[in-house]
Order: sequence, then structure tokens, then C-alpha cells
Amino acid sequence: MKNCPQCGQPRLGEAFKCPSCDVFYSQLDELLYAEQQKQESQTLKGTLKRIRAAEDRSQALRAALKTLWLNTPLKTKIVIWTLIAFVFVLVVPVF
Ligand SMILES: [Zn+2]
Repeated sequence: MKNCPQCGQPRLGEAFKCPSCDVFYSQLDELLYAEQQKQESQTLKGTLKRIRAAEDRSQALRAALKTLWLNTPLKTKIVIWTLIAFVFVLVVPVF
């Protein structure tokens, strides 16, 4: 559909929704939009965007880190812990 089903305004570029009424131009656009959101939520850029848009940023950041940690494979976790332990051992004698 080239026009908004609600207000009839012509579609702007590749937008999925009408900017003035927040209505999808067609059902296909709705599906494409959902797919894009899903893909974006799995990227770092999408996560950062979500954190920035959130009302409670620190809570959003914590939730994002939790999700990231849950999605991190065990091997990577072991490597991270080893690195932290290594840095700790190096730094502690300085104090
Ligand atoms: Zn409209």
C-alpha cells in the first residue's frame, strides 16, 4: 500500500508505519517491522538503542547485561573469569 489506510497520506520512503497516525501501511509491513525489531534486538546496536530509549536506563542496562550473560557460552564465561582473576592477582599486590 502506498498510502496510509487511516489518513491517506503518501508513504515516506521505506517507512513501515505512518508517522502521524502510527498505523502500518499494510499487513506485510507489520510483519517486516516485527522481523526487523527481532533482528535488531539481537544486536549490540539494538540493545544500546533499547537502553537509551528506556525510562529506567540502569535497570535496562542490567537487564541487557543479564541477557548477554545468559547468552554467553560457558567457555567464554570461563575465559572472562580467568581474565578477571588474572587482573586481580596482578593488581592486588600493588596496594
Ligand atoms: Zn496516517
